[in-house]
Amino acid sequence: MPKIQNLQQRDSAHIWHPLTQHKLHPYAHPIVKAKGVVLYDENGKEYIDAVSSWYTAMYGHCNDFIVRRAHRQMQQLDQIIFSGFTHEPAVELSEKLMTILPKNQAKLMFNDNGSTATEIGIKMALQYHHNKGNKRKTLLAFENGFHGDTLGAMSVSGLSVYNGPFEEFFIDVERIPVPNGENEAEILQKIEDFHIENPLAGFIYEPLVQGAAGMKMYKAERLEPILKKCQKLGIITIADEVMTGFGKTGSFFASDHIKTKPDVMCLSKALTAGLVPMGITTCTQEIFDAFYDDDIGKGLFHAHTYSANPIACATAIAGIELLQSEEIQQNIIKIEGWHREFALEINEHPKVQSTRQQGVIFALELNIAMERYGDLRYEIFNFCMNEGVFLRPLGETIYILAPFITTKAQMDKIYGVIKKVLERF
Ligand SMILES: *Cc1c(COP(=O)(O)O)cnc(C)c1O
Repeated sequence: MPKIQNLQQRDSAHIWHPLTQHKLHPYAHPIVKAKGVVLYDENGKEYIDAVSSWYTAMYGHCNDFIVRRAHRQMQQLDQIIFSGFTHEPAVELSEKLMTILPKNQAKLMFNDNGSTATEIGIKMALQYHHNKGNKRKTLLAFENGFHGDTLGAMSVSGLSVYNGPFEEFFIDVERIPVPNGENEAEILQKIEDFHIENPLAGFIYEPLVQGAAGMKMYKAERLEPILKKCQKLGIITIADEVMTGFGKTGSFFASDHIKTKPDVMCLSKALTAGLVPMGITTCTQEIFDAFYDDDIGKGLFHAHTYSANPIACATAIAGIELLQSEEIQQNIIKIEGWHREFALEINEHPKVQSTRQQGVIFALELNIAMERYGDLRYEIFNFCMNEGVFLRPLGETIYILAPFITTKAQMDKIYGVIKKVLERF
């Protein structure tokens, strides 16, 4: 740990950090500035942000184009209640999203973050059946998924280190393993059995890449029969694309790689390009129609104060414009190629158990036994920070999810640090 700074001491006086056991890790790293792919601390030391600040700042930090759009919007209309009011940025964003989302998506509800996006997805599935007079109160989820930290989202997540103390308060959930090429028949049987016992309302899943589980990946064609089975049984399919959305998997959304489209989609993180928080839950016309009624009680009575904040919407529009640009699309292809080459270079290293890649998401499994949240993880994090690269290992997984604007030289620096980790740990 470097010398304790003044800001760290002031921070620790009052601030309770997310995902932190303060007794074990009392000090946070102060960052004073960010530009492009680089973070700067109080002493002017530079760090390459190899995880895009939790997969948000995909076009780089303080991107001039996005900042200009946010600034322009700030001077025009800052905030307005979205219940009973509307505005151009929200409407334009809805139109823009519909041009890049799977064709079956028709309506969207604004919210604040990834957890609220999935929370609304869950509520849409539960109330859809309620409105139709069906008794379905159980959800289906993957064993090791992650869908956020609010109570509903936590219920369908599988990471016990986050949600253990709350288990007895969860909504009803049945869990299935991720399809691995050998267990598909067993999974389909399980779904049928669960459904007979407790009719399933919805199935929530992270398509192709499970972020918090350690960038675990599975094949599109293995998800296909599961989604088909769900849709046959009237189980609402909810794609949690909070992490996978907006270009990271090599297409606009991970669901683009899968033939069977979800009924509901949850978006956040890169949606607003790392500038301001926002989430969006989208759905098909059929879902919306189940709430459309003379009976006011059949509406989806869910709101967040900052729903569709105009500045967030303006930021999201700018982000999508960048994502669609020739430059970013070319960069995505380039980064995919660099990662493939890097994988070839390190695959045979004795400390590398395996590597995997989906789009610009690259992960390697270390051949070192260690516990999740073990010390080694923090040692590797600190080692990389000292070397000027921000990487955030998950268990024995080291992954790269750097901004789309990362240059070859910057990526080589990230690769170089990982190679040093392989030599040293
Ligand atoms: C991060 C994440 C969430 C939760 O989003 P927050 O904005 O942190 O609440 C939900 N689902 C997935 C797949 C995520 O990666």
